[in-house]
Amino acid sequence: MDKLLLIPGPSPVHPRILDALAEPTVSHVSPEMAVDLSAALENLKKTVFCAGGEPFIIAGAGTLAMEIALLNVIAKGDRVLVLSQGYFGDRMGQICDSFGIPNDVVRSPWGSAVRPDELAGIIARKSHAAVSVTHVDTSTGACAPIREYSDLLKGTGILYIVDGVCATGGVEERMDDWGIDVILTAAQKCYGAPPGLALDVFSERAMAKRRGLSSVPAYYSDILRWLPIMKDPLKYFSTPCVNEVRAFAEATRMMLEEGMEARFVRHAKIARAFRAALAALGFTFFTEEAYFADTLSVVRYPAGIEDKAFRSALGKNGVVVAGGLAETSGKVFRLGHMGNLAFDQVMFAVEAVEKTLRSLGYPFGSETGVQAADAQLI
Ligand code: PMP
Repeated sequence: MDKLLLIPGPSPVHPRILDALAEPTVSHVSPEMAVDLSAALENLKKTVFCAGGEPFIIAGAGTLAMEIALLNVIAKGDRVLVLSQGYFGDRMGQICDSFGIPNDVVRSPWGSAVRPDELAGIIARKSHAAVSVTHVDTSTGACAPIREYSDLLKGTGILYIVDGVCATGGVEERMDDWGIDVILTAAQKCYGAPPGLALDVFSERAMAKRRGLSSVPAYYSDILRWLPIMKDPLKYFSTPCVNEVRAFAEATRMMLEEGMEARFVRHAKIARAFRAALAALGFTFFTEEAYFADTLSVVRYPAGIEDKAFRSALGKNGVVVAGGLAETSGKVFRLGHMGNLAFDQVMFAVEAVEKTLRSLGYPFGSETGVQAADAQLI
């Protein structure tokens, strides 16, 4: 039986995208490839509402996209402010450390995000050239107020980097309007494509910063080596993963057919449906309500339900969820609800949770979760 993959990425891949992936491999410098890479790049910009900047699609994953974002806009001596609400925010600090980039990591308690007034206080000291923030941290399910941050950063000259790996394409990110300089993300989450691509969109200001740097501590991650290929995919730098790019192009076509606004609304609706169902069944949430994300939920068990037994029984009922990361390990499960998820898949998952609880001897009224979810989806 195919299992419904509701981990925080990869998300389930739609048959249309799988079909594109299975097309014959063509030369990486062929006209066929050029059509798809160019379309994917153009569409990628549309998904983040960017008119002027430069998009990059490079074989790798989200962590490479993080490196690319950072290494191309930091000059020697620049200091980076990392706002971290969890595991992946901390990773940005680790990447800085690995490259000897001076940085300050400001952490929120897990389950919330750094408050805008804290950011205001720090940037008033004028010691940072760039701020990096995780939009939705996959470890905690907390969504940061990136729009409020952007209001504070506008006009300061500080570059604004957003890690959208668990958000871009599912939660609104308006690069031009909000003055974001780099959005980094990956194919396997809200874009609903298979894993394997690092995605970065640089604003004109971020491109100007890169062009002003005589060198960066990178070779494969240097966007100026990739720029000629992104402009003209018939040129060669390093072999792109042809099939992945074609699948991603199809994924972005599906997104634009749905419409970005409709896509955000669908994500919000599905998030509400899952949370209503889980709450009705006695689960609670690790994340503070004010920071709930539309792309995933981090869920605490009702008394008497044990993590491994629950996840393993749920898997047998056809739904795969993830365990907690770091300090939440064994205490929560992480439910991804992003990408191309349809309402009937949501209902299937809620029924599977009910079946699982029943098999573990946990009492609840008949169809409690199903009814709660259904009420949100109509
Ligand atoms: N940032 C965030 C917010 C993530 O959720 C992840 C992956 N879960 C990453 C970065 C790293 O992405 P990858 O695993 O594709 O390297």
